[in-house]
Amino acid sequence: MKIARVTLRQLRMRLKAPFVTSFGSFLDKDFLLVEVTDTDGTSGWGESVAFSSPWYSEETVKTNWHILEDFLIPILFKEPVRHPGELSARFSPLRRNNMAKSALEGAVWDLYARRSGQALAAALGGEKAEIEVGISIGIQPTITDLLRLIERHAAEGYRRIKVKIKPGWDIEVIKEVRRHFPDIPLMADANSAYRLGDAARLKELDAYNLMMIEQPLAFDDIIDHAALQAQLSTPICLDESIHSAEDARKAIELGSCKIINIKIGRVGGLTEARRIHDLCLDRGIPVWCGGMLESGIGRAHNIAITSLPGFTLPGDTAASSRYWEQDIIDPEVIVENGRIRIPKKPGLGFEPVRNRMDQHTIRSQTYRP
Ligand SMILES: [Mg+2]
Repeated sequence: MKIARVTLRQLRMRLKAPFVTSFGSFLDKDFLLVEVTDTDGTSGWGESVAFSSPWYSEETVKTNWHILEDFLIPILFKEPVRHPGELSARFSPLRRNNMAKSALEGAVWDLYARRSGQALAAALGGEKAEIEVGISIGIQPTITDLLRLIERHAAEGYRRIKVKIKPGWDIEVIKEVRRHFPDIPLMADANSAYRLGDAARLKELDAYNLMMIEQPLAFDDIIDHAALQAQLSTPICLDESIHSAEDARKAIELGSCKIINIKIGRVGGLTEARRIHDLCLDRGIPVWCGGMLESGIGRAHNIAITSLPGFTLPGDTAASSRYWEQDIIDPEVIVENGRIRIPKKPGLGFEPVRNRMDQHTIRSQTYRP
């Protein structure tokens, strides 16, 4: 591939409903898109999943722009790229900044797949024709509101329900959900809201047949999670703690989790995501693909990685219409009976719609070798 230019865009798109984080709530989501164009004029697309403030990880939209502009794009321009799988090694002298790396690497993967006439899923080695997806529901004002939402999304066919929990919104909530939906595939995500001292309380969740509890303890911990897992029969799934295949290996060997949530951006790109998948497949650890409120571009990357055989649990990649009035890809991501068909067209299989992107672009810059 001979790369002629890279364009960074910052988009601001309105969500259908406010998203609540520890920094407050936001309705407008800012994110970066990366377009990598080769000398023949073919473009590949990637999305950064970094948020505007560092509540999920240390990366933000602003830090990603800086790292892409000043470090990653210059590294990309230094030598020709034969295969996108080379990039994670070329980016490795730069510590972390995984979401920035992933955005650029993802665009090159899409470009490579388009140029070689294969779907991105196939280029990654995926064989599934469709994937199963679930839905994630945030903390609600009342249990009645939560039950109403679960009822609606279960009727839409989503294959599992994920409920966010925190101290004061946990045991009673899960108990009520189970009472109303005894058989629904159900899991809880704590986003690091507990400490090991809460083990006795978390153990009460064992009574409700949860598929897993996601990231109960600190965002950077694997030691206390191992101690907690030894006390729980509910499988622990790690999200925030896993940044690489090496992190995954250590967590598995310590017994810190029985399931891993793979987010492409958190682990530095599709190549590292596939590495974690391969390791987990080998060790008998099921994986699934988490969501970061992506636009259609990021959503398409999630769909492609989920086509790999070890993604045996439903992921968080809901329909475009769950988050956006109108997505920036055509067709939009559609969920039918809890399933998404994996596109067969070359590359992402969803076309970016430039005029819709332009409407939401608040900053853009093009770089040339
Ligand atoms: Mg999570």
